[in-house]
Amino acid sequence: MSENKSLEQLNDNAKFIFITGGVVSSLGKGLASASLASILQARGFKVRLRKLDPYLNVDPGTMSPYQHGEVYVTDDGTEADLDLGHYERFSGVPAKKTDSITTGKIYQRVIDKERRGDYLGATIQVVPHVTNEIKDFILSDITDEDFVLCEIGGTVGDIEGQPYLEAIRQVAYDIGRDRVMFLHVTLLPYIAVAGEMKTKPTQHSVKKLQEYGIQPDMLLCRCQTPIPQNEKRKIALFCNVREENVITAADVDNIYLVPIAYSKEGMDRQVCKYFGINCQDEPDLSKWETIVDTVKNPEGIVNIAVVGKYVQLLEAYKSLNEALTHGGIANKHKVKIKWVDSEVLENEEPSNYLSDVSAILVPGGFGERGAMGKINAVKYARENKIPFLGICFGMQLSVVETMRNVAGMKDAGTSEFMAGCTPVVGLMKEWDKDGAKEIRTKEGDLGGTMRLGAYESLLSKDSFIYRIYGREKISERHRHRYEVNIKYEDDLRNAGMIISAKSPDGKLPEIIERLDHPWFVGVQFHPELKSKPFDPHPLFVSFIKAAVDKSRLI
Ligand code: GLN
Repeated sequence: MSENKSLEQLNDNAKFIFITGGVVSSLGKGLASASLASILQARGFKVRLRKLDPYLNVDPGTMSPYQHGEVYVTDDGTEADLDLGHYERFSGVPAKKTDSITTGKIYQRVIDKERRGDYLGATIQVVPHVTNEIKDFILSDITDEDFVLCEIGGTVGDIEGQPYLEAIRQVAYDIGRDRVMFLHVTLLPYIAVAGEMKTKPTQHSVKKLQEYGIQPDMLLCRCQTPIPQNEKRKIALFCNVREENVITAADVDNIYLVPIAYSKEGMDRQVCKYFGINCQDEPDLSKWETIVDTVKNPEGIVNIAVVGKYVQLLEAYKSLNEALTHGGIANKHKVKIKWVDSEVLENEEPSNYLSDVSAILVPGGFGERGAMGKINAVKYARENKIPFLGICFGMQLSVVETMRNVAGMKDAGTSEFMAGCTPVVGLMKEWDKDGAKEIRTKEGDLGGTMRLGAYESLLSKDSFIYRIYGREKISERHRHRYEVNIKYEDDLRNAGMIISAKSPDGKLPEIIERLDHPWFVGVQFHPELKSKPFDPHPLFVSFIKAAVDKSRLI
């Protein structure tokens, strides 16, 4: 059966940590998993992080950002859960297609096999066919990793999650309990009137997990204050978990503190002990300490406006938020983001919202709502010489703005939604990906049909952007269906905007910049997806530096 293949190929060394959640959702399991991975790395281990999402969508690509936050894109072109962004930022390990699965994808595979007749007439069932497919995913594509951390989305008890719990129980059975750790993340609510931290929801949650045949080996308990030892003892006793494996995850005011806090609680040491690994040496957490120190003691604060459509839900711009913070860390400044709803800029004076910021960013986006407000924000940044960064949709609209307001093409627009416009941004029907042609049409499926993942761009050597990147060839992640039409290159140049990077075949504009402006850049890709706290993206470092310089003049 399919899982046997992965099982046979599995390296003898790989150990699995399965992370489940209990009590409530939004406990920050993603961040917890990423932090655990980073402290294991700090002990010299090679890690891999994976996310198993029980929902029925094939991927989050078609979900509203309000439902599920940002869609994270990997180099190999998968639209994945935003937790993969946490994983990559904290561990530095680039996430891959094989690190993200959903029930929709699992069922798609099972049904494809059934249609092909691969099951030789068997009745297809959740156990074993769906669970085998999940196990196959968990065990596949592992090379020399020491630890594979698999986070199960949702909360124990969810109907959708049951096949996953069954599958991870079976993995422990298949490869041996000593190579598997079950880590359960729970909440210890504090009841103010009683003045007490409550352990009962955690006990219930663990009981629920035990019903599925899973005995947690470690509990990570989210709480407002450290867990008193007697409460730890109580939790340990009721939940059948060793007392020293009941780990406090107290709230912290800065996410970079989490790995340090977990390590202080002994989490990495206990994981090593559990697997029988020598853990005498202390982990090297110096890079986290440096970051925490910089974040705690900034030399100043800089205000940046982000003009977008999903500003009510900050999860929708997770990576962007992080990348701006990273740019701030590199410049020893705290970045304060002013989230501006692009719709309000459609009717109101942009200066009412943007005169107090040192830089303006228009992020990626889709559709008509708020688009005119974004164009107004671009115009304001251009005219007032405020550092401006346009990402994807933001770049496309900055081109529309220049064509309309500088080149005088009043009906310039994007064919994404501006019916009857002159489409300076339109659908490219064909382009090259790894030598093969891919075709996109307006009628095609919405799911997975965009230009997705890492593509190379070539930078003009005499451009501003070349000075920022310091090299000619770059690779960045894309997620878009529309393109700036290269045939307007001359019109744009005459209007003060140059195309300073293109796809290697010269057909697709990748970066634009304005020549009459101190810092005005638009990029067709998403640089925020590759920025990391200890490896901040050069575009964000430069953008924040420009904002800091500007703030000194305000
Ligand atoms: N809506 C635009 C497109 O599909 C931009 C997408 C984005 O900003 N990610 O091309």
